[in-house]
Amino acid sequence: MNRFDYVKPATVAEAIAAAGAPGAAYLASGTNLLDLMKGNVVQPARLVDITQIKELTRIERLGNGDVRIGALVRNADLACDASFARDFPAVAEALLSGASAQLRNAATVGGNLLQRTRCAYFYDTASACNKRIPGSGCDARDGENSQHAVLGWSAACIATNPSDFCVPLAALDAVVEIAGASGRREVALEALHLLPGTTPERETVLAPGEMIVAVRLPAAARAFARHARYLKVRERNSYAFAVVSAAAGLVIENGSIKQARLALGGVAAKPWRAHDAEALLAGQTSDARVFEQAADAALRDAKPSGDNAYKIPLARQLIARALQAAAQGTPSRMPALPASPFSSVPGVLHDA
Ligand SMILES: Cc1cc2nc3c(=O)[nH]c(=O)nc-3n(C[C@H](O)[C@H](O)[C@H](O)COP(=O)(O)OP(=O)(O)OC[C@H]3O[C@@H](n4cnc5c(N)ncnc54)[C@H](O)[C@@H]3O)c2cc1C
Ligand code: SF4
Repeated sequence: MNRFDYVKPATVAEAIAAAGAPGAAYLASGTNLLDLMKGNVVQPARLVDITQIKELTRIERLGNGDVRIGALVRNADLACDASFARDFPAVAEALLSGASAQLRNAATVGGNLLQRTRCAYFYDTASACNKRIPGSGCDARDGENSQHAVLGWSAACIATNPSDFCVPLAALDAVVEIAGASGRREVALEALHLLPGTTPERETVLAPGEMIVAVRLPAAARAFARHARYLKVRERNSYAFAVVSAAAGLVIENGSIKQARLALGGVAAKPWRAHDAEALLAGQTSDARVFEQAADAALRDAKPSGDNAYKIPLARQLIARALQAAAQGTPSRMPALPASPFSSVPGVLHDA
């Protein structure tokens, strides 16, 4: 076990000051970070435990209609906040499709956004991994890579981002509030994570010592509440990361799509917003042929990085199905198996 300092600040300012030390890492619930430390994958010199910072625990409705979610709000608490789930149903569905009930009770909003890839070679310190040790190579390239990326990957790294939560957040133009030694700033969720390029060790735009304090969903994202779904294909129907997932939101008037939102999970090192597909959908009638064309547009640049060519037709089917399910209307109640493409859903909240 590596030796490390442990501090437990009470305010954001104290946390940022404590995280200025070299090798410091923020600790939220530790469901990812502590596993990585136990496996010697990461060796922080100091843990800055942020769990006592009260201002990070709130869900706030702002005067302009935005919803601001503190970085320490638990995944389960957010998904089960009735008003939040009504306004942003695909986000609630994505949260409830992640991990297990126990993990969702512990996992935090900020930790979910910054969880590390599940590439097995990243977790195995006997393997070469450019993300863990820059320049060491990538054993996934010639290894077991059936779950790896089909979009945005590079010769240096083919890992995917494992978060479900981030996928509808990217689709709905969520904003991440960041605090650091030089003050506060904001970035679009879509711009938070970086593609690997030649520096896969750089996973986000956060500078050393910066912390996430909140995520904001804009008031305008409520427009998609009537027609929103998150669908996730996994190797078993619960307690598994996405092989491929899709968040779809539509605004439909008289059978015509006024606005569309689409993002994919499990396909790249970041949640993948499908802007071309959204543009193609706007103004079209809501039917299966249009949804297939949108899926083709979303996957135009997809290419296998190994034994994962199957992911491309799978993603195509899932996108079309998520758009179809969204068009049918948001379920009146959360499906018994959230995000499962195989479960039947109770009623619809609104007619298409
Ligand atoms: C068995 C298992 C199955 C899982 N299945 C899924 C799944 O299906 N879908 C899914 O989406 N997730 C899944 N997860 C991942 C889980 O959702 C994450 O581990 C969890 O969300 C991380 O939250 P945490 O509060 O425990 O973060 P921590 O483990 O405390 O932190 C994670 C990372 O974020 C950093 N961090 C935390 N908070 C902040 C902050 N506010 N500012 C800056 N940095 C911060 C930490 O330094 C660390 O690098 C699974 C996890 C496990 C163990
Ligand atoms: S795919 Fe990325 S995370 Fe996995 S071994 Fe290669 S460099 Fe490491």
